[in-house]
Amino acid sequence: MQIIIDKVKCEAKLGETLLTIARRNNIHIPTLCHSDALAGQGNCRMCMVEVSEGKTKKMVASCIYPVTKSIEVITNSETLTKMRKTLVMLLSARVPHNNTILKLRQEYNLPPVTRFKSDDEEECILCGLCTRACDEMGISAISTVNRGINKKVSTPFEEPSTVCIGCGACAHVCPTGAIKIEDIGEERIIWEKSFELLRCSNCGKPFITRVGFEYIKNKINTEIETVCENCRKDAITKKLRDIYGF
Ligand code: SF4
Repeated sequence: MQIIIDKVKCEAKLGETLLTIARRNNIHIPTLCHSDALAGQGNCRMCMVEVSEGKTKKMVASCIYPVTKSIEVITNSETLTKMRKTLVMLLSARVPHNNTILKLRQEYNLPPVTRFKSDDEEECILCGLCTRACDEMGISAISTVNRGINKKVSTPFEEPSTVCIGCGACAHVCPTGAIKIEDIGEERIIWEKSFELLRCSNCGKPFITRVGFEYIKNKINTEIETVCENCRKDAITKKLRDIYGF
């Protein structure tokens, strides 16, 4: 089927989200709580777009809106810009010094927020991607705790988690760099817990925590080599070169 985004005709599969179709066609829609590795959550609302179906017009979060028929979509309008500006201002009030939000503030030409007292150290916008990633790993070591302005992401009782495997998926998907992960030699520190890192048997670089490696091995119930992703990709490319001679 075909849909129209910003006057561009785009091929779409039934059930695909508007964001996926837009990105495939190089149409920019801003997002904060979206990761290609996870299904959309529609939390941050930055990806709101205008959808016209016949005579009906509505605003939808493009990351969770599945296409079921031919529609026309606008990703940029005065109303949408105004809405995104308000969202950025609200986020600025929470995380005034975060680089991701500062960049958005510049992009939308917004002044600093001075009306609210905020925690200068705060970097988390509570988008939910980290807890989602951890849940998808099957671990659920972190969750949101407290309410209102005290709401935050934490391990249970704000103590080093007994179940965290130090995989770093939560830090990897965080759009604002709020989760600190530190790899020093053969040690990784995340969520105030220290993990031993294993070295890649090919290039020698530390790349995975020992508990993370054991967790994956047990989950897939197979012996796996301690080979990092880069070396694995290189090995596949080499194999393809050997076969096809390119
Ligand atoms: S590092 Fe710990 S908290 Fe973060 S995703 Fe992995 S298991 Fe979950």
